[in-house]
This record gives sequence, C-alpha cells and structure tokens, in this order.
Amino acid sequence: MNYLDDTIAAISTPVGQGGIGIVRLSGAGALSIADRIFRSGNRRDPSAVPSRRMLYGHITDPADDHRVDEVLLSVMHAPKSYTGEDVVEINCHGGMVSVRNILELVLRQGARLAEPGEFTKRAFLRGRIDLSQAEAVLDIINAKTEESMKIASEQLGGRLTERLGELRQKLIEISAFAEAYIDFPEDEIETASKGEMVKGLAEARNEISRLSDTFNEARFFRDGLSVAIVGRPNVGKSSLLNTLLSKDRAIVTDLPGTTRDLIEDYLNIKGLPIRIMDTAGIRNSDEIVEQQGIRRSMQAIEHADFIIALFDGSEPHRQEDLDLMDIIKDKKAVVVISKADLPLRLSVGTIMADGGPLLSLSTVTGEGVEQLKTAIIESNIHDWKEGHEGLVVTNMRHKTALDSAAESLQRAAGLLSGNEPLELFSIEMREALNRIGEITGAITTDDILDKIFSSFCIGK
Ligand code: GDP
Repeated sequence: MNYLDDTIAAISTPVGQGGIGIVRLSGAGALSIADRIFRSGNRRDPSAVPSRRMLYGHITDPADDHRVDEVLLSVMHAPKSYTGEDVVEINCHGGMVSVRNILELVLRQGARLAEPGEFTKRAFLRGRIDLSQAEAVLDIINAKTEESMKIASEQLGGRLTERLGELRQKLIEISAFAEAYIDFPEDEIETASKGEMVKGLAEARNEISRLSDTFNEARFFRDGLSVAIVGRPNVGKSSLLNTLLSKDRAIVTDLPGTTRDLIEDYLNIKGLPIRIMDTAGIRNSDEIVEQQGIRRSMQAIEHADFIIALFDGSEPHRQEDLDLMDIIKDKKAVVVISKADLPLRLSVGTIMADGGPLLSLSTVTGEGVEQLKTAIIESNIHDWKEGHEGLVVTNMRHKTALDSAAESLQRAAGLLSGNEPLELFSIEMREALNRIGEITGAITTDDILDKIFSSFCIGK
C-alpha cells in the first residue's frame, strides 16, 4: 500500500489541560471515519457538508453508541486543506481524557497514528508547499520573538522559493545554451557568447553568495544568539542575569561559587532571541562540583556567540580577572564593570591594558543595563536586512546548499573560460542546479526528508 494512501490521525494541541483539544485526521478515509463516529441533531454527515464547514454534535463510539464528547467538527476537502488531502479537525474539550479517547476511537476506525511532522510532510509530498516552506512551518512553531516569526512567515509565504526559482531558471538557460554545442562538437561557442555566459554565471554566483552571507546574522533570529555571562564568583553574574530576565530564575546568593548549574533561558532584545548561559565562575578550586562548573564555564565561552565578561568594580582585581581577560581575548565580547553603585576600587587600566570598549553597570540602580543590551545587538547585528529586502537565509541546510552551488558555479565558469570540454562544464552546472533544488525539495532524498520532519512534533 502506498504510504500516502493511509489516513493519519494525531492530537494537534499540546498535552495537558486546556480549553480545547484538537484531534486531526488527514487522508482519503478521513471523511468516512468522521461519518461513522459523529452524530448531530440534524443528522448531517461530515462528508455531506461543503468544505470548510463546522458542525456541532457528539463523537459517539459506533460499537456501543457511547457518547465520547461534545465537539465542533470541521471539514476541509482536498486539495484545499493543510495537507492537500481531505482533513477533519475535531475540537473537543481540552485535557488528557477527551482527546485521547477520540484519538483511540479514530485509530480503531482505521486511521494510523501520524509520525512527527507527517501532516506537513504530506503537504510537501502533495505539492502544496515546497521543502523550505515546510521548514518555515517548524520555524514558526519554534519562533521566540516577533522578528523570528516574521522571517519564518516570509519563508512560508514563498519568497525564498520564488528567488531560487528565478536563479534556477537563469542557470538552466545558460546550461541549455552549452548543451546545444555538446551535440554539435564541430561548432565552437563564440567568444562573445562565452563572455555573456561567464558574466551570467558570475551574477548568479554573487547573488547566491549574498543570500548565503545573510545567514551569519539572520541565523540568530531563528536559533537565538548564545550569550555567556562569565566572571569569577560574586562579581554579579546571577544578579545581571536576573535583571536581564526580570524574573528570578538563577539563584542569587552571597556565598561565592554557589551557582553551579548552567542555566539557560531566552531574552528578547529588540526582536533578537538571546539564549543566556549563566555559568559558574572562573576560579581555581579543588572542589569537584565547582570544577565541573568551571569546565562548563570554559565550554560556554568556547561555544557562545558572544560573551559578557564581568569584573567587580567594588574590589581590586584578582588573578582570576586577568586570566579571564586572557581567555576571552580572541572572542567577541563586551567587558562590563559591575556594581557601579559602589565606590570604584578596581584598577580598570590593569584589566583593560590595551584599552577597548567597556561599560559600567549596576543591577541595583539599573545604570548601564540598556547600554549593555545595545552593545549586544550592535556587536552582532549590523545591517543584515539592508540590501536584500528582508530575504534572508536562517537555515544551515540552505546555507550549505547555497555555498556548494556557488562553488560549482565558480568551477563551471573556470572550465568555460579555460576552453575545457563542455561536458565537464555541464556536470558542474547540473551539480549547482541540484544543490539549489535541494533547498526547495525539487531534488530530495528520503534521508533529507526524514531528518527534516523528524524534528517536528506529532500532530503538525
Ligand atoms: P555571581 O556569583 O557572579 O553570580 O554573583 P551574584 O549575582 O550572586 O552577586 C554576588 C553579590 O554581589 C550579591 O550579594 C549581590 O547582591 C551583589 N551584587 C550583584 N550586583 C550588584 C550591583 O550591581 N551592586 C551591588 N551593590 N551589589 C551587587
């Protein structure tokens, strides 16, 4: 049996108590299953109503006429539905019991439990959306800020698809021109035409590279910018984290070295999702737990996109402070002098021997907090939106494909200019087209699809 012939079902709302729960069905059998289990006062069968109608009634087990729940049931006919197939959505009472009972009933009636992301995968396999749009659905679900949401919505709207389609078209034309000469080896491509082709390839490659470059900053809107707050114990890391989060997540304490766990949370700074890692202090210690904290701290420094290095302004510097300056010297970081409300006892010149930007901050008065937020943004986000009309690449898979397409185009242009056999040129061109096609799923493999859709939740 064809995989797409199954009718799939899942609970599409989050697990737990809620006002409404939704069980969703998709596939050729969705309407007939709905007919068997739905009863309404005026005896209207779901399959008999026009598309996009909602019916009020009861889900009833046909085996014993037992009423499972009072529901609103909506019907969407193929192909104008989320999956492109017949879809039925049953809105029942929220909570654990009703949705489960309805799901089990639907499965007894012949539906199969959907795999993660299978509704969206079907939308792709039925040609309703392309692969980059399917990925955008996931990005929307995972969006952490309005800005992340906006970028994902544009991708879902098909802007990337459209631009890649234009690029592919341009490359296909250049390829086809060369192919014609492969069939007639006695003819040579005129120098002028060759020049045009090389120019066309360079333009396409530039455009691909520009798009790929947007990833460097745009990715932060999808995955978050990871920021590590580091410094020796008691400099004020937890206090700063709490100030930034404006809620008490990390433990604030007078005892040095008590924040031993790496606590992660998100901030929203001017639309940028920021994943803050709170870290145990840098300190020489024999205590095992403390050492683990330090190791994790070093890992955080290693893996963070950006570092906030804290130094206690109310005390003279210690060796650990100088060590920290050394550790972060090649990192993207901002140096922050903490406890600015207290008299300055730190010799700033010793810490910042080479000068450089620095900020002073107090979590007691709030001084410097806004400047810190601005510094985080300005150090990481420059002009990612300018010049590409908001069209950006946020997905590593897309960037990798674009980069290898650009490399193929460069090799293709080299082969053409070097009067190498056109067959070799054609191979590179095909490679470039395939890589671009991978992004939208025009070219795809089961592996790629499995990898993408397995990260979805069941019911989407
Ligand atoms: P951590 O060990 O680096 O996480 O430091 P904490 O955030 O736990 O702070 C250590 C101590 O410094 C606590 O007693 C805080 O109340 C105090 N502290 C933190 N920030 C400030 C500040 O801006 N001003 C003053 N006066 N005290 C602060």
